[in-house]
Amino acid sequence: MIYLKTDEEIELMRESNLLVARTLGELAKVIKPGVSTLELDKIAETFIRDNGGVPGFLNYQGFPNTLCTSVNEQVVHGIPSDKPLQNGDIVSVDCGALLNGFFGDSAYTFEVGEVSTEIKKLLDATKKSLYLGIEQAVENKRLGDLGSAIQSYTEELGFSVVREMVGHGVGRELHEAPEVPNYGKKGNGMKLKSGMVLAIEPMINMGTRQIVQEKDGWTIRTADQKMSAHFEHTVAVRKDKADILSSFKFIEEVLSLQSEK
Ligand code: MG
Ligand code: MG
Repeated sequence: MIYLKTDEEIELMRESNLLVARTLGELAKVIKPGVSTLELDKIAETFIRDNGGVPGFLNYQGFPNTLCTSVNEQVVHGIPSDKPLQNGDIVSVDCGALLNGFFGDSAYTFEVGEVSTEIKKLLDATKKSLYLGIEQAVENKRLGDLGSAIQSYTEELGFSVVREMVGHGVGRELHEAPEVPNYGKKGNGMKLKSGMVLAIEPMINMGTRQIVQEKDGWTIRTADQKMSAHFEHTVAVRKDKADILSSFKFIEEVLSLQSEK
């Protein structure tokens, strides 16, 4: 069952996603070597609650925290820990918030201190592929067009696409139909309709696409322990152009100020 959202519902979802975007912006201010992902988690939980929201992932199917924090070879669903981040690490921070009865969902992979050129390429490619996927999130395109845009761009650069974990519809539930794969063939798959709200979230690996789950029952990491990146936006499918409900604006304002220093 796919729930098409009304214009009013989409505006409410913009509010939920704005809260997520602002939360990620707060985290951008503090991510540096020496900070633990558990500290990030506390900041995020406090910020979401102070702004009238409820953490979207906390207690979701038993998940213990507000954020999923996935460091280096971890792909997604990493559990925050008290281990300090180190110079050269990357950390994917995935944040969900419930506000007005609707979920916002967005993720960004941050550099910790100075990372290698090779890693920067992976991050750039993954973020670019997200926007290429979003370009396809318009009425009468198909899910295969969206997945193909992400897959062809990243594979041409020599990276690989995680298959087992996918994007999803989002709304009153964190995970709604349809599944949104980051791979596929043009012209295949379900036709998109205006009012669908999708969380598009490429997970792109430096080495093999194969993944394994850690013994904690949550954390997904690459099988070859090479780096993985993850960026996510929540978008509404529209007639001519997708409407991006989440935003990296707050993160990017902070990062550009930091790079001027
Ligand atoms: Mg997410
Ligand atoms: Mg998601």
